[in-house]
Amino acid sequence: MNEITLVTGANKGIGREIAAQLAALGHTVVIGARSAGAGKQAAEELGVESVVLDVTDPVSAAAAAGTLEARYGRLDVLVNNAGISRPPGSDLAHQRPGSADLGVLRAIFETNVFGVVTVTNTLLPLLRRSAAPRIVNVSSSAASLARNADPELAAQLPISAGYTPSKTALTSLTLQYARELRDEGILVNAVCPGYCATDLNGHSGHRTPAQGAVAAVRMATIPADGPTGTFVDDEGPVPW
Ligand code: NAP
Repeated sequence: MNEITLVTGANKGIGREIAAQLAALGHTVVIGARSAGAGKQAAEELGVESVVLDVTDPVSAAAAAGTLEARYGRLDVLVNNAGISRPPGSDLAHQRPGSADLGVLRAIFETNVFGVVTVTNTLLPLLRRSAAPRIVNVSSSAASLARNADPELAAQLPISAGYTPSKTALTSLTLQYARELRDEGILVNAVCPGYCATDLNGHSGHRTPAQGAVAAVRMATIPADGPTGTFVDDEGPVPW
């Protein structure tokens, strides 16, 4: 069956690669992008569709859902990939807990956590029309509580009261959605792409966006009786 798939924040970076790899597997992919121009350009380059979608804007999410409903009548896969590490003009220093700028923290949570709730809830009616609905949330193993609680492992991670807790919240939210939607057969999983060179981190990552896309693609293509409520990367389960 042709899979209808929406990837948010897919005009560049890991999202764009998730879109490319799912399109190569035969999915009908729609790129969500807050910039109509950037979304259209990426979609043309990949031979897929695009829709304007600012995940922080419920009106934008409703309009995108309306477009998807008119075009396809349902949604099979939602990849919540859009995310920010900091709002424009701020730096990591604004996220040190003891001196955090609350405006910065709120902006990060607005996109990485509340944006996921906005988009997911707006699209749930379309996902419920799918024979095998799947939701994939792009989180981060850097936000693993187990890793942050281990002094040796945490030494490799930045101290962050913004990005890191926002992704911890997203992972937790994934479990709550998985629990709520299990009986309806909607599979909800979190993935970590690994540390990839993208605009998000000034291209400091050691992996390519294409490598980073692999875990999300895997969880976007699980069968209807596949896992739900998991947190995985390329190599398997990530500690919570
Ligand atoms: P990226 O290249 O900066 O791409 C982020 C994407 O999200 C862009 O398309 C951006 O759109 C979009 N976006 C941001 N705010 C949005 C909003 N309000 N509405 C819609 N789209 C929005 O970063 P990336 O590294 O590919 O990140 C993708 C995901 O992977 C994020 O959730 C990130 O937290 C996660 N992740 C990344 C790494 C890594 O090492 N790169 C590691 C772990 C997890 P614009 O072009 O308009 O800004």
